[in-house]
Amino acid sequence: MLVLPDCAGRNSPFSQRSHSLLPLRSKTFQIETLGCKVNQYDSQRLAEMLENAGFSHVPPGETPDLWFVNTCTVTHAADRKARQLIRRQNREAPRSGIFVTGCYATLEKDLIAGIDGVNGVYGPDEWDRMLEAVCSQAGTPPPGIRSSDFGLNCFRGRARACVKIQDGCDAFCSYCIVPHVRGRPRSRPLEDALEEGRRMIGHGFRELVLTGVHLGLYGRDLSESVELADVVSAFAALDRHVRIRLSSLEGPEANGRLLAAMTSPNVCPHLHLPLQSADAEVLRAMGRSYGPVEFYDVLETVRAALPDPAISTDIIVGFPGESDRAFRNTLEFCENAGFSRIHVFNYSPRPNTVAYGIAPRIDQATAGRRSEALRSLAGRLGTEWASKFLGRNLRVLYEKTEPDGWMCGYSDRYVRVKAPADAALLGNLTTTSVHRQEGCELMGRIGENATGQSDD
Ligand code: SF4
Repeated sequence: MLVLPDCAGRNSPFSQRSHSLLPLRSKTFQIETLGCKVNQYDSQRLAEMLENAGFSHVPPGETPDLWFVNTCTVTHAADRKARQLIRRQNREAPRSGIFVTGCYATLEKDLIAGIDGVNGVYGPDEWDRMLEAVCSQAGTPPPGIRSSDFGLNCFRGRARACVKIQDGCDAFCSYCIVPHVRGRPRSRPLEDALEEGRRMIGHGFRELVLTGVHLGLYGRDLSESVELADVVSAFAALDRHVRIRLSSLEGPEANGRLLAAMTSPNVCPHLHLPLQSADAEVLRAMGRSYGPVEFYDVLETVRAALPDPAISTDIIVGFPGESDRAFRNTLEFCENAGFSRIHVFNYSPRPNTVAYGIAPRIDQATAGRRSEALRSLAGRLGTEWASKFLGRNLRVLYEKTEPDGWMCGYSDRYVRVKAPADAALLGNLTTTSVHRQEGCELMGRIGENATGQSDD
């Protein structure tokens, strides 16, 4: 029986429960990714390291020699999903080596290591050792690149590519486990990020999403004087035919310089600003840096600076102590704020966070009723938002063809648009004339001048 070293480099008792990796049949791998865009980015980097070490990716449906799951721990549900996936993989492909990484792997290393079939558990900052262990077991030299090298990130099979420019957070919002697992804020030097952006464009990507755990902290730790606005301007200047989008940003960080940078025609006028609650007391207990009035001011500033911007948000319902009145405050705020999209999450108690000790907890039935009410409002607001674009020409990046024969993608303002499938247009920015609406989705036709002007 082979024994993999544990995360401190010792032989681990748990790893002795795992099966041998040898003999590897064909040096193949698959990666399952849970969670946010940062994880999506990291999984691509892991794929690149494995390919550099001579492994090749196989699509779902085939059985790989090595199976990796890049986990998320933002809620209990995310933890449970990771455990279910691991157990299913072990059941369905008992000869595949199973490696677990990501935020949940950092938080619950021993628990995950005890799941049958798991060969190794490594945090996101332990990949060099993980790859060394994998390669040594496979009898192959380790990759020639380190996890800290940002190389040919390929985002295979996708139309949009993420560029990670920042990691970590030290805001310690009272409900959030992320700072405990992702560490202090770190920014990627601008030239390094741009280099990757150029390579992605060279690979044919027509949308780059600037991604980070806490994007607004970009630059704070760098010696050069640079902030998020400079990154946006520099990426927008790379190629005017490539669309730039920002992932999630804290509301107060949408400052004048950033909004000015976002007026470039190829930067999407779309901001995802997580509000979480619109009740002053709940926001204070959450440890957020703003109250509802300040957040409303941010919305007005964004709307004054950008043409008809899409503003999406996240709301947590059932935070400890959230009264009926507090929830109604959130509901009323959302009704008036004109969000284009609302992601609703039920509060999930995470041990080792401040909120874990806050009483009283909100019972499941009440939290369920509140999230239903908010989701119903979100559906209505999303439909109203999409209806603004009926009869207009939208610039859409088509991402995939669905079984119904339509291809789908997103407009600059992140409305989902469908059009009759045309394989030649997948992955391209295509002007679409929108003539029909179904809920939050728009249906359109590709104009004769498919790459022409858009009034999105
Ligand atoms: S800003 Fe708050 S919610 Fe966002 S990652 Fe940091 S601690 Fe978590």
